[in-house]
Amino acid sequence: MIKDLVLATSNKHKVAEILSIFTDANIQINLVTLDQIENPPSVEEDAPTFAGNALKKARELSRYCKIPAIADDSGLVVDALEGQPGVLSARWAGVHGDDQANLNLVLDQMKDVEAELRMAKFVCAAAMALPDGREFVTAGEIEGSLTLSPRGKNGFGYDSIFVPTGYEITTAEMDPQLKNSISHRAVAFRKLAIMLAALE
Ligand code: IMP
Repeated sequence: MIKDLVLATSNKHKVAEILSIFTDANIQINLVTLDQIENPPSVEEDAPTFAGNALKKARELSRYCKIPAIADDSGLVVDALEGQPGVLSARWAGVHGDDQANLNLVLDQMKDVEAELRMAKFVCAAAMALPDGREFVTAGEIEGSLTLSPRGKNGFGYDSIFVPTGYEITTAEMDPQLKNSISHRAVAFRKLAIMLAALE
């Protein structure tokens, strides 16, 4: 089985979540993160789909590092906003990674939307690319609804306004272990972990 993998993200929350998902799935790998790589390639996330962006990031990093690479692309899909912010989730308010501004913009766009119509889901595509050209991509989703105002301090991004179906609390109010057991990222990376375990 593959032992060394490079992960195409510098988002510390994602690194922690993915590591814990692999540990729970009994996958023992040495995960090299982007901040341990000298001059990592900067990849433009311009594909129209989560899968397209995840594959692009994994492919370019594997080519650069010459070891297997994994990447994810994820976001919030809001019914009342016709599926937006979607692949633009990380830069919805204009500046890449400004979680607070992105969240405020979504709340503002949703301010007149009543409770029953506030359905949303988190979506994640997880991709793995190998130096020999083999590529794998999996998907995960978690459905829920959006609150009227932020609640909770854990997590990142839109966690403080997202309540998964079947729960009363936002993913930012959840213990990280609970979020990691039900999240879109957990679903996608568990599937990827199975593929990884089966690789020669
Ligand atoms: P990516 O780095 O292009 O995948 O950006 C994903 C963006 O979607 C993040 O910046 C967050 O705004 C949002 N997002 C993805 N996953 C989560 C999550 O688990 N919780 C909260 N927000 C998330």
